[in-house]
Amino acid sequence: MTHAIGYIRRSTDKQEESLDQQRARLEAFAKAKGWTLTTIYCDDAISGSDLKRPGLDQLMHDAVERDDVQIVLAWDRNRLARPKDPLDGMMLERRLVDAGKRVVYAATGMESDRSFTSGLIGYIEHHQNGDYLRKLSRDTMRGLVERAKRGLWPGGPIPFGYDRLIMDGPTPKRIVRDLDDGGQLVLDATSGHRIEQLPKGKRHHKQDHETCSLTPSDPARVRALQKVFADFAAGKPSRVLRDELNASGFRTSRGGVFTIPTILPILENQAYVGRCVYNQRTLSKWHRYRQGGSVERFDEGVEKRDSSDWITCEDAWPTLVDAELFEQVQRRRTQSQQRNTHRRGLAMKSEYLLTGLIYCGVCGGKMTGHTTTSGKGIKTLYYVCSRHSAGHKEECPTRYTVPAKLVEDHILCLIRIDLAKLRDDDQLHKMIAQELQRLSGGRSDARDQLSRELAQLDQQAATLREHLMSLDPDTARSLGLYDKAKEVAERRELIALELSRLASRTPQLPAPEVIRERAAAEFDRLERVISSATVEEKRELIACYVQKIKADPDRCSVEIGLYPTLVSQKIAGAGFEPATSGL
Ligand SMILES: [Zn+2]
Repeated sequence: MTHAIGYIRRSTDKQEESLDQQRARLEAFAKAKGWTLTTIYCDDAISGSDLKRPGLDQLMHDAVERDDVQIVLAWDRNRLARPKDPLDGMMLERRLVDAGKRVVYAATGMESDRSFTSGLIGYIEHHQNGDYLRKLSRDTMRGLVERAKRGLWPGGPIPFGYDRLIMDGPTPKRIVRDLDDGGQLVLDATSGHRIEQLPKGKRHHKQDHETCSLTPSDPARVRALQKVFADFAAGKPSRVLRDELNASGFRTSRGGVFTIPTILPILENQAYVGRCVYNQRTLSKWHRYRQGGSVERFDEGVEKRDSSDWITCEDAWPTLVDAELFEQVQRRRTQSQQRNTHRRGLAMKSEYLLTGLIYCGVCGGKMTGHTTTSGKGIKTLYYVCSRHSAGHKEECPTRYTVPAKLVEDHILCLIRIDLAKLRDDDQLHKMIAQELQRLSGGRSDARDQLSRELAQLDQQAATLREHLMSLDPDTARSLGLYDKAKEVAERRELIALELSRLASRTPQLPAPEVIRERAAAEFDRLERVISSATVEEKRELIACYVQKIKADPDRCSVEIGLYPTLVSQKIAGAGFEPATSGL
């Protein structure tokens, strides 16, 4: 009995065959061949350019693991992948072939194997399949640029305070409003009458020939948005704006509550002054729009684009905020950014060396850094349980703090002691020398032997020379001394050659004292790092040693778990019970 497993995939492209159609075709094909199709793996709404897909991952895993499967079946090569680089697609097939599976495509009946023809066709098809997406991406980008130039909404979440206005040419057709519960409301653009209401998860789709612009949403949202701008310009903190919006029941376009990271982009969004801006960031994984054209990209990820590449269109839709207020808000944003740079974002977090390493012994939650400032302006850094802070009082009932400096200093001190011991550790230096010897594979032994032989031959040659000088040529010849000398010379040449070959292959081992000197220099460098390092350097060093720290408020102590590496074995064995009575 021949067992096959199948793979089907559909992207979001409407022209593709449905999953049911693909499944039926695979089943029919397998039946005609007399194979048993045991499992069909499936990915829905995922692009073939994405080579990490849950269904595909499972297929690859099972195909390699399962001995009872002989065949991997897909409708077409482009279901398996539309790779950016054809080689990535070939590698995918190669992994299956290497696992002893036949890879068969039902549409053509072709098989991927190790033959020249199969390789050639595979390469060409993978290239074409990827090219399909490449061209699609280029056309899509061109379309988006054209739209943005005409002041049409280029896509993405609608800014709070606006609705989508779906248009057919210059004629407004429908208004689509995101509702606070995550659903959508569709209204007639002329009469304002309700056409339909979609529940959360369902989205309204415009037709291909229709375009999208923005129109002010219901008056309550518009007023709330305008209040956010006016209040911020008047000096209200963004967290108060956030709380007020949430308390009034407003939600983001995705139906979520407002947070500082969602409020700040609102304050900078140029859409509110009627300006359509496209290409502030590159989202496409195939192309970037640069200097007036789309250029293929070979990297991935979202990137910020230089403002010279932005496509802007003024007066694209009605403004919600007047230009003067908008500028005022931008000035306050810049000021507060400058004022806060020394204690915001990463810089703030990185003051705490143990973030990500220290956990709460009561509930197992992460502990995060907090700072208190006394009346005299003295700052104290603490770690507190994040679960307790987040209000999970049933899991972690009592608030307690771990003084940051006390624990951090103790750990740095442990590392320093450890390094000081190692600096002058004879055993360690011997071990390093042995390790180097082992790595050089004993080739230096061979070299010593050859050198000894060379010296012996030199000795022999010298003796022969003496004999030759003291004898007349005929006697010497009859004694075979000339032949002997020739033999020694040839042998010597051979040995010398071998020796030089070996020398070029074998790295010269550093002498033990050189190793010791270098190691000492390294340790001194680390010592300097500990005493004068930036926070980042210290974090890195600590991360090399410390696996996990657990705070125990009952015993007023912390337990430090160290990595069992060569270097830290010693301090791991030392045990640790710090006198953290100040907990
Ligand atoms: Zn806790």
